[in-house]
Amino acid sequence: MFDLTLWIRENVRMMKPYSCARTEFTGEASVFLDANENPYNTGLNRYPDPLQWKLKEKIADLKGIGAENIFLGNGSDEPIDLLIRVSCHPGVHNVVAIDPTYGMYLVAAETHGVEYRTVPLDEHFDFSAEPLLRKTDGQTRIVFLCSPNNPTGNVLNEQEIVKLLESFQGVVVLDEAYIDFSSGKGFLHRLHEFPNLVILQTFSKAWGMAGVRLGMAFASKDIIAALNKIKYPYNINVLTQQTALERLEEPTLHEEWVVSLVKERHRLKEKLAALPLVLQIHPSEANFLLIRVANPNPLYQYLVNRGIIVRNRNNVSLCSGCLRITVGLPAENDALIEALSAYLE
Ligand SMILES: *Cc1c(COP(=O)(O)O)cnc(C)c1O
Repeated sequence: MFDLTLWIRENVRMMKPYSCARTEFTGEASVFLDANENPYNTGLNRYPDPLQWKLKEKIADLKGIGAENIFLGNGSDEPIDLLIRVSCHPGVHNVVAIDPTYGMYLVAAETHGVEYRTVPLDEHFDFSAEPLLRKTDGQTRIVFLCSPNNPTGNVLNEQEIVKLLESFQGVVVLDEAYIDFSSGKGFLHRLHEFPNLVILQTFSKAWGMAGVRLGMAFASKDIIAALNKIKYPYNINVLTQQTALERLEEPTLHEEWVVSLVKERHRLKEKLAALPLVLQIHPSEANFLLIRVANPNPLYQYLVNRGIIVRNRNNVSLCSGCLRITVGLPAENDALIEALSAYLE
C-alpha cells in the first residue's frame, strides 16, 4: 500500500513551512498593517491569496472535485518540480518514466540530482505496467506517464495505467495536458480510487492561456498539502488569478476552440496524408500531429526559411524522421500544406 508519510522526504516531513501574513490571519478585517505592503491602492499593492481559494472553487465546480484536491502552480512545470523535491532525496531516490515523453520530467529530476530511469514505449507508442514496475526499486518515488503523450499524441492504455496505480508503491504522475482534445475521459473522475495518483492539467493548451503560466495538479488532499508545504508562498500572482477567473466565467469559448481544433486536426491530417513526402502520420488525440518523413532536417530548415516553425523531433527516441506539428488556425495550416506541396526532395 502507498504510505504518504514514508513517501515524503524526511527533512520536508520534519520542517515547519514559511508562514505568511495572510495565512496567520483569517477572518474579516478592513485595516491590513501586517504584511509591509504599500497601502496606496493600485489594484496590485496587496499580496495574492497564497492558496488561491476563489480560483480553486471555480475549477473544483468545473471539474467536479474538491477544491482541497487542487494545487495550482506556475505552469505544470511547478508541480513537476515540487513532486520531485517533496519526495526525492538527491543521489538516493529515483524516478521512472516512459520514453519518449515530455522533457521537463527529466530536467526536473536532473536539476535535483535524482536518477531518471526510462522504459521505451512499444511500436504503437503504448506501454505496459510490467516493464515499468521492473524498472522501479525500493528507492523509486515517482513514475511519470503522459496521456495523450507528448510528442507521440496517443493516449495510453487505461487498464495498464490502473495496473500500475495498483501495484506501484510510490506516486504515479499522469500528465493530462492534452486531455481536452482527446475522445477519452482521462482519470480525473477516478481520482478518489487511487491515493497515489497525481493528475496534471494546464491552462496552457485548450484554455489558450500559456502566457499566464497556470498549471493544475489534482490529488488526495494529503498530497496537495505536501506540495503546499514547500511551494513559494505567493506562487500564483494576482494578475494570473484574476485573468484565469475571468476566463472561467466563459467556459464555452474553450469548448468551441477545442471543437474547431479537433476538426482542424482531422482536416490537416487528410491534407498531409495526400502528400508523397509524408511517410506516416501517427494517430493523435492532442492538438498536434507527429509525422514521419524521409529527411526531416532539410525539410525543417526549408519550412524555417519560409517562416513556418514546426518541432523537429528527429533526435528523440523512437521518433527518427519525425516532425511535430501543432494544429494552428485554418489559414496557418493551409500555409504549411502549401509550403510542403511546393517542396522538392
Ligand atoms: C505543454 C505541456 C505541459 C504544459 O506545461 P505548462 O508549464 O503548464 O505550460 C505539460 N505537460 C505536457 C506533456 C505538455 O506538453
